[in-house]
Amino acid sequence: MTDAVVLGAGMAGLLAARVLSEFHDQVTVVERDRLPDMPAQRRGIPQGRHLHSFLSRGCQLLEEFFPGILDELVDSGAHVVADGDLSRVYTRLGTHEMNRSEKFADPAALVFYLASRPFIELHVRRRVSALANVKFLDHHDITEPTVISRDRISGVLLVNRDTGERTTLDADLVVDAMGRAARTPAFLERLGYGRPEEQRSLANWAYSSQLLRIPDGAVAEKMLLIESGKGLPRAGLLAYEDDTWILTLGQQTTNADPPTNLAGMLALAEQCMPGSILVALRSAQPLDNVAVFRNTGGVWRRYDRMQDFPAGLLVIGDSLCSLNPIYGQGMTMAALETLALQDYLREGCGDPLQYFRAVAKHVGPTWAMNQSRDRVPSSAEERRSLQARLATSTMNSALKAAQNDIVLTERFMRVAHLVDPPSQLQDPALIARVILGALRRRFSPSTRRTWCTNVRLARRRVARAVAR
Ligand SMILES: Cc1cc2nc3c(=O)[nH]c(=O)nc-3n(C[C@H](O)[C@H](O)[C@H](O)COP(=O)(O)OP(=O)(O)OC[C@H]3O[C@@H](n4cnc5c(N)ncnc54)[C@H](O)[C@@H]3O)c2cc1C
Repeated sequence: MTDAVVLGAGMAGLLAARVLSEFHDQVTVVERDRLPDMPAQRRGIPQGRHLHSFLSRGCQLLEEFFPGILDELVDSGAHVVADGDLSRVYTRLGTHEMNRSEKFADPAALVFYLASRPFIELHVRRRVSALANVKFLDHHDITEPTVISRDRISGVLLVNRDTGERTTLDADLVVDAMGRAARTPAFLERLGYGRPEEQRSLANWAYSSQLLRIPDGAVAEKMLLIESGKGLPRAGLLAYEDDTWILTLGQQTTNADPPTNLAGMLALAEQCMPGSILVALRSAQPLDNVAVFRNTGGVWRRYDRMQDFPAGLLVIGDSLCSLNPIYGQGMTMAALETLALQDYLREGCGDPLQYFRAVAKHVGPTWAMNQSRDRVPSSAEERRSLQARLATSTMNSALKAAQNDIVLTERFMRVAHLVDPPSQLQDPALIARVILGALRRRFSPSTRRTWCTNVRLARRRVARAVAR
């Protein structure tokens, strides 16, 4: 008989419990909050009040772990864009809108299921609860793991939040999925292993979010994601279940304090959202208070680089790596880490470092891509460095070309949704498309017309100056 304990019933904990149930006789998920039996916000998931959605790769994995769950989400009220119809998706990077008039070659790979975090979490939790060998122990605080010896974990210490009673739960495997407030580094230090090296993301944004009801038909899209340029806010508007919408605006904390009311959010939205959407937002009804989340900077704890790690303990989800939430990758990354956990369990649970190294292969490319997306080179830096200028201008040309080129848009979206690795954007065939796109723009009838008009105007100005 083997027991596993999962610490935390967030998305990573739920997914971990699902795969652990294949390999352990009993799996217990311990959670500090009381777990609601309807889609409700809870204290342990403050990010649940902000825009949340699985990327396409995450949706695919969710369906693999829980067959039929995506249809179940839609039947219960989630929105879906699964036919490649881009008229319902608005994505803008800087000043460049992604192509919206054509269809993807492989629409099945880019699917968007839209619903609030409490709604999605509830459906996943119900599926996990239905597994015969998984049980939940909510309203219990994890204090820390227990040990047999320095190199072998034997379970965890819990405190019942109702009675204050302390108990020990024995387990062959303990999985830390307690989110951003990571406790394992301090625990490892106490055991004498030292703390893992930490990498931190450069960006620090604050989020303001408002749940809304928008008059029917006022917004044609289901999903708008806007990553504005330097110094400007980022914005997202998603259709949620029960005819609600979530509006989230992010701005760098160095710029100003995040707005705490709808009027402030609308003022910020004016800097980056299309006019038609602003009109719809002005007629929207707020359904809750504005939620604010600060300190969104990511941390990657490099357990994979440690020399040694105690047996019987693993870490998953935000406890291991919290990504900059602006890119919406956290739950999908947790699902990818769950694949690494499944492989590790299949291979008979050897050295825990094998698991951490496999996880690093999933996290590494996304972490690096985010670092370069987060990095806004200063004007002085751009002037100085030829390489920075070249990189910025190549990316701008690629984004400009994507506006009219569905192949490029699909490539960008597949990488952003973690369907393909970022290396797919370095394909030489794509560079050729970008150059072709630039040439087409240069010689397009509209560019020629603008050029001719400019020449005519200039001639007239010269003629007038000569006549005077
Ligand atoms: C503002 C914001 C927006 C985001 N938007 C997106 C998005 O659009 N898409 C996306 O994929 N990801 C998004 N993320 C990231 C995503 O929320 C996480 O990556 C994801 O939830 C995985 O986290 P987790 O399960 O590791 O931790 P969490 O979901 O944070 O869960 C941790 C759980 O552990 C419990 N816990 C903590 N301490 C204890 C304790 N001592 N005892 C018992 N239980 C404990 C908590 O109550 C909680 O239930 C966003 C994050 C933020 C901050």
